[in-house]
Amino acid sequence: MTKTIYFKKYTSIHIGSKHKVKIINEIGQYSNYTIIGRGNNLLISNNPPKLAILGDDFNYIFIKNDKLIVGAATTSGKLLQFCKKHNIANMEFLAKLPGNIGGLTKMNAGLKQWEIFNYIDSIKTYKGYIPKENIDYTYRKTNIDDIIYEVVFNLEYGFDIQKQNMFIKLRDNQPNLPSAGSCFKNPKEHSAGYLLEKVGLKGYNIGDMAFSSIHANFLVNLGNGTFDEAIKLINLAKKRVLETYNIQLQEEIVIL
Ligand SMILES: Cc1cc2nc3c(=O)[nH]c(=O)nc-3n(C[C@H](O)[C@H](O)[C@H](O)COP(=O)(O)OP(=O)(O)OC[C@H]3O[C@@H](n4cnc5c(N)ncnc54)[C@H](O)[C@@H]3O)c2cc1C
Repeated sequence: MTKTIYFKKYTSIHIGSKHKVKIINEIGQYSNYTIIGRGNNLLISNNPPKLAILGDDFNYIFIKNDKLIVGAATTSGKLLQFCKKHNIANMEFLAKLPGNIGGLTKMNAGLKQWEIFNYIDSIKTYKGYIPKENIDYTYRKTNIDDIIYEVVFNLEYGFDIQKQNMFIKLRDNQPNLPSAGSCFKNPKEHSAGYLLEKVGLKGYNIGDMAFSSIHANFLVNLGNGTFDEAIKLINLAKKRVLETYNIQLQEEIVIL
């Protein structure tokens, strides 16, 4: 089964044309396809690889023994609400962190020291359950190359509303314009936003794409921004930061 997705509407950065996407309803390898989630970290070119998306069968949450079992197509918002309702701890950082559990896990998404892998027990791929100890993960990076169908979390009780409010407050400096979150990963030495500002790119635009004047590491769409404009800005930023600071910026945004 396939469906046509208009990526300008689907992705959070509002870029991309219409492409056919395979809907996966059964666990399998699908190695010819690139799986996508909710499109909150994607920059889609005019010629992307073959794309696939998980069907609704992978949108579920339940508790079994001392584990929280979550289908990879479940959104962060749905999981957060579930945890609030059932007084479950640790997922407060998902407030205003958009995506589905597959995308969040692949990216080891998080905020400061709160990352999704802190709370994971294992993931399920077509090979079966893989314990966290057998997965390499670090800041915004994992070595997961297969489709994630399910994520198993360790269960702890005690939802903390104050913690959730703290996470929401930490997002005060985030621009409201369409973006894909942080454009670059933070290098060890300085934050990417600081470096972009120092090389004169805070608020800088090419056509309708810009590094936000509120937070330079957010590549924002001012209206009708295009893939080419986004790539030009990304390359310009990498060049300037390399020349000035000898630091090679790495994209956090996933370019397909
Ligand atoms: C306003 C805003 C704020 C953000 N803030 C943060 C933040 O604070 N911290 C942070 O970490 N991120 C942040 N992001 C980025 C984004 O929310 C995360 O990267 C999130 O994990 C993306 O999830 P998604 O479902 O949208 O994945 P997509 O963007 O669709 O895909 C991201 C990657 O995950 C892979 N993927 C998706 N589903 C699966 C699956 N089932 N199995 C295997 N691989 C899969 C894709 O191939 C791709 O490589 C922000 C984004 C926005 C728009």
